[in-house]
Amino acid sequence: MKALDELTFDNRFARLGDAFSTHVLPEPLDAPRLVVASEAAMALLDLDPAVAQTPVFAELFGGHKLWAEAEPRAMVYSGHQFGGYTPQLGDGRGLLLGEVYNEAGEHWDLHLKGAGMTPYSRMGDGRAVLRSSIREFLASEALHALGIPSSRALCVIGSDTPVWREKQERGAMVLRMAHSHIRFGHFEYFYYTKKPEQQALLAEHVLNLHYPECREQPEPYLAMFREIVERNAELIAKWQAYGFCHGVMNTDNMSILGITFDFGPFAFLDDFDAHFICNHSDHEGRYSFSNQVPIGQWNLSALAQALTPFISVDALKEALGLYLPLYQANYLDLMRRRLGLTTAEDDDQHLVERLLKLMQNSGVDYTLFFRRLGDESAALAVTRLRDDFVDLAGFDAWAEQYKARVARDGDYGEEQRRARMHAVNPLYILRNYLAQNAIAAAESGDYSEVRRLHEVLSRPFEEQAGMEQYAQRPPDWGKHLEISCSS
Ligand code: AMP
Ligand code: MG
Repeated sequence: MKALDELTFDNRFARLGDAFSTHVLPEPLDAPRLVVASEAAMALLDLDPAVAQTPVFAELFGGHKLWAEAEPRAMVYSGHQFGGYTPQLGDGRGLLLGEVYNEAGEHWDLHLKGAGMTPYSRMGDGRAVLRSSIREFLASEALHALGIPSSRALCVIGSDTPVWREKQERGAMVLRMAHSHIRFGHFEYFYYTKKPEQQALLAEHVLNLHYPECREQPEPYLAMFREIVERNAELIAKWQAYGFCHGVMNTDNMSILGITFDFGPFAFLDDFDAHFICNHSDHEGRYSFSNQVPIGQWNLSALAQALTPFISVDALKEALGLYLPLYQANYLDLMRRRLGLTTAEDDDQHLVERLLKLMQNSGVDYTLFFRRLGDESAALAVTRLRDDFVDLAGFDAWAEQYKARVARDGDYGEEQRRARMHAVNPLYILRNYLAQNAIAAAESGDYSEVRRLHEVLSRPFEEQAGMEQYAQRPPDWGKHLEISCSS
């Protein structure tokens, strides 16, 4: 276990030089204080969890102090936002403080979001508010606990610093961790600004540090792109299987590592709704729940375009062709497991589709349905769940097919079925209204609800005593909360 001053830095991205990022110091928050810390994330840095309670922790992650070996940098990138190209974005309010490596030899970027203005702030104030910082913290740690690749969050630091959004709020910082903060938009920036040398350096950097196994392949860059395609297909299959809606899948928010990245107006589905749009500024529904699948491919095509200096167009097209079949295979595999199936049959896709259509028509809670389906034998479970459906004949027909399918799958005891299904069907997810409750309390200075929610969501598959209120459908007020893009 390490103390805070024992972290070891190795700032590989900073060493790429000034064409890639700019040195900027964090702008401290007034009266910084710990809102919440993730022990699991601290463990990735070998940090003793007790250090979160020390004043220096809030000073470091509230922008007041820096390690001597930290090299705070704002990264430059660009990206396609809602389908249109924005030539220059960059870290407008976040700083890569440096890269820390742990005792296992893993490197972790420490990125302080909300750290003040940078040369890339454009019209923004460089700040992040408490509300959005808590949402990012809870979501990244909750996704990780669900087994969905994501950037991580070490802590949220609150403050007295006033920040103006639709109304006056308080500034906060979230310390984000990832093996890399390189986005699709980094490659787009050097491609569209016609800087082939820097682009080659960036590609080399990503290949060496993050896809070293691809070096062994005859065409390393192509192998790397293929791997990025695969990881994205797997990631988005998980989002779809678990009802996660990212909300702003611009290419500057897509990680080169295929992890969930840059949290804004995201939401988990309550009722199943394929057309759900979580970002209320997304008027056309470009990033609606079901559109995440084709948008994943669109974003990969944008990256492919930026990689044309390194890889032939034909090879890129072929690699892009892997996306949909891989997505489908991964998604179906996950949905089979959610249904408690251990074997594959040709008609399973239809079984899933028919169920989702019924859920859509009846507004059935997506998370609780699967959890309850595993509570008992298939026959008993469908009898109990029937009440949630409006189209009873439709549901009965599906239930008959499902029971027959389960019978063909094998004769497992109820205990085994429950254990297997509950291990993949969470009881607790980050519902918007739960986040909202925790945020409201935090905004009035009570951080206990954020901490409790974080705790509950860190073991989403395990029933936790006394936590029933976190496993309920939203109350009426919490059903269709509009989450603004402002953060
Ligand atoms: P996002 O929508 O958070 O992915 O941000 C898109 C771009 O706007 C990125 O370049 C951000 O750094 C920048 N940005 C967002 N909010 C702010 C802010 N409050 N101040 C400065 N830049 C910001
Ligand atoms: Mg972003």
